Amino acid sequence: MSELVTTRIRSTASKLGLPHLAEGLQSLLGRADAGKLGYVDFFDLVLEEELALREDRRFRHALRISKLPHHKTLDDYDFSFQPDLDPRKIRDLASLAFAETKTNVALLGPPGVGKTHIAVALAVAACRAGFTIYFTTLDDMVRQLKAADSIGRLGSKLHTYLRPHILVVDEVGYLPLEREEGNLVFQLISKRYEKGSIILTSNKSFSEFGQVFGDEVLATAILDRLLHHCEVVPINGPSYRLKNRLTAIDGEAGIA
Ligand code: ADP
Ligand code: MG
Repeated sequence: MSELVTTRIRSTASKLGLPHLAEGLQSLLGRADAGKLGYVDFFDLVLEEELALREDRRFRHALRISKLPHHKTLDDYDFSFQPDLDPRKIRDLASLAFAETKTNVALLGPPGVGKTHIAVALAVAACRAGFTIYFTTLDDMVRQLKAADSIGRLGSKLHTYLRPHILVVDEVGYLPLEREEGNLVFQLISKRYEKGSIILTSNKSFSEFGQVFGDEVLATAILDRLLHHCEVVPINGPSYRLKNRLTAIDGEAGIA
């Protein structure tokens, strides 16, 4: 192909916003030659690659703005360490039907069992599939909502937590809330109800939510909306954090 034409293709591809074609033309042509591709297959290859690049960029950008604390996946999760947790239940969730149906997911259990890990892994999978994600701890969300409320901007701050397809609310129950803080959470939960999924993690059982939200009636109203469509995943087992620590301490103490 003449230099003139390849230069023009590069320039046209750039103008059309097709960066992969603009930058990778030589290699695409090489692959077409090597595979003896016909016009249709070559066209198909070019468009597929462009789409894959665009998807990858979207995914990376969406991950950056999701505020996820890390990007661990279910492949990083050792199910053999939590024998009471059925891997099929988690893999079913990873099929993301819950996100389609705007069902919530509650991961409940003591510290270190991997609640945040699994919540993040589901969020990463959903993000890859095109869902928008926002991650927060309950305390941070309450702090943000309170600050916004105090300057008359509650509505727009609520929007931050209403906009994403999936809101991950981590660490529900670590610190008990005041009644008026619980009320802000109620506003958010009832506005999201049946509009978008929440993945929450908590070290408390639902019966203890009265203490968490500073008021039994409020807690019941929150749970009513939260649990109407909800996959509850109790994880009752040993702490993975402690496992590593205890092995190290045993090692230092010379205990086999
Ligand atoms: P939780 O939120 O339940 O307190 P985390 O999800 O923060 O626990 O897990 C604590 C640490 O241990 C994280 O680094 C997490 O990736 C890791 N972890 C927990 N459970 C497992 C597991 N079964 N396999 C691999 N890593 C795990
Ligand atoms: Mg956690």
